[in-house]
Amino acid sequence: MLDFAKIREYVDKDRGNYVAAGTALAQDVAGMRIFDQPLFAVGDAQDPLFQKLQEPQAVGPHMRLPQDWLPGARSVVSFFLPFTEAVKGSNAPRGKSEGRDEEQQRRDPSNGWLHGRIEGQAFLLDVCRKMVSLLEAEGEEAVIPILEPGFWTEETSRFTSSWSERHVAFVCGLGTFGLSKGLITEKGICGRFGSVVTTAELPRTERPYTGIYEYCIQCGACARNCPVGAISLEKGKDHVACSAYCAVMKERYAPRYGCGKCQVSVPCMSRIPGRRP
Ligand code: SF4
Ligand code: SF4
Repeated sequence: MLDFAKIREYVDKDRGNYVAAGTALAQDVAGMRIFDQPLFAVGDAQDPLFQKLQEPQAVGPHMRLPQDWLPGARSVVSFFLPFTEAVKGSNAPRGKSEGRDEEQQRRDPSNGWLHGRIEGQAFLLDVCRKMVSLLEAEGEEAVIPILEPGFWTEETSRFTSSWSERHVAFVCGLGTFGLSKGLITEKGICGRFGSVVTTAELPRTERPYTGIYEYCIQCGACARNCPVGAISLEKGKDHVACSAYCAVMKERYAPRYGCGKCQVSVPCMSRIPGRRP
């Protein structure tokens, strides 16, 4: 078994989930909590949908299966760490982030978002490690695919690796894709995903949808927020344009980076549109 209560407690109490005063980019984010409580979903490692992810229109043939990461894998634990209101609000195109004027606020990632993207991802990996240690204490094996050497290979590209957290989350039952290509969960689209593959036989989560874009209402709000027009209702998302813009932001805010304007101030930010959070 995996004690999810212990993970929740870890997310509440561990200092990694709070921006340390010594590293804060500005006063307004010192001590800020990065993530709210996670959502978990458990998928069957043998689910045929994992194989479907190897099709060109999904991730592609370079996508590895759970058994490729861990022979004898039985379950895949996928989780979503939603950003707190503080992180989301700071990045709103018409919000406020210390040191940004109106135009910068519309186009540039906020201090809170920059921390969420970098320190938040570091904490997410700690959550994965915590999960692995709990599973190993039960005598099970567990791996974190994105930390394995095969995550980036010669077959992968700048945009896709051999394990896509969002696609895995879709298979496990956490949510469906949006026009912006984020995954819309019960707690919205705004946050980060992680996963662990394990030999443990854990109770499965029901996948409460069939369509890939079932939760997206095609409202176009994400497209209107994008500073470089990388999203449109007609053509979907232009990954090249998005990536080029994020590279500019990386030059400006290195070692941090990010954008995320398509995930804030939109109907799917914190919920499935049209449903209660
Ligand atoms: S903002 Fe609207 S169109 Fe964009 S992903 Fe969310 S629900 Fe879909
Ligand atoms: S993350 Fe990419 S798609 Fe989203 S708003 Fe920024 S540039 Fe546009």
